[in-house]
Amino acid sequence: MPIDRKEAQLRDDICHICAMMYSRGLIRGPSGNVSARLDKDRILLTPGGVMKFDLKPEQLIIVNLDGEKVGPHNDINRDLKPTSELPMHLEVYHRRPDVGGVVHAHTSYVVALTVAGLSLRPQVLTEGMLFLGVVPNAPYGTPTTTELSNSIIEFIPDHDVIILPYHGSITFGHDVWQAFSRTEVLEQVAEIQYLTSQLGGEKQLSKPNIEKMIELRIKYKHNLPSDHKLLEN
Ligand SMILES: [Zn+2]
Repeated sequence: MPIDRKEAQLRDDICHICAMMYSRGLIRGPSGNVSARLDKDRILLTPGGVMKFDLKPEQLIIVNLDGEKVGPHNDINRDLKPTSELPMHLEVYHRRPDVGGVVHAHTSYVVALTVAGLSLRPQVLTEGMLFLGVVPNAPYGTPTTTELSNSIIEFIPDHDVIILPYHGSITFGHDVWQAFSRTEVLEQVAEIQYLTSQLGGEKQLSKPNIEKMIELRIKYKHNLPSDHKLLEN
């Protein structure tokens, strides 16, 4: 069965994003996973256990919102299984009809922050405030289990980025490119936070300046109900 233009484009986009994430060290080997909403009933996503640097569009698979693999299949993806973190992606798509793409990655500075018992401070970078907003640390959950997918549920409605302690992050957006860009900005914020700690600690941006960034989030339609927490120390 031939695939339509939207599906073909999304397949290319996901492979492009995986290759970029690999080349930038945001994912290593088979780790991490990327998905996109194909239509109201179906999700296109990366298969589990496959190296992401050289992913082929035909390797991506389609599931319904219950997580069941659905066609059309081809010879290349016929025996591939969805990523084992699929339940986490599905929780986001179920709870956020506005979301068109989800990225899960194990980036080093973000994980290091959680291992040190710290929370992310988007306030250290203007782009962090603008594109991430408030970023919570979910309770720890064992990867691939419902303990992990359940751990993010309470944060999904009011956040676009959630950190998974000792593991990584999940970011989402109106499309898969926005979800990817949030993963990039997230890792940059964590890196700046680390560098700042090496330079003697953070000299905090003033509250009026943070308020202006919250206004920009409204202007660019990134705003969420949790934004006011950016003003808390
Ligand atoms: Zn993971």
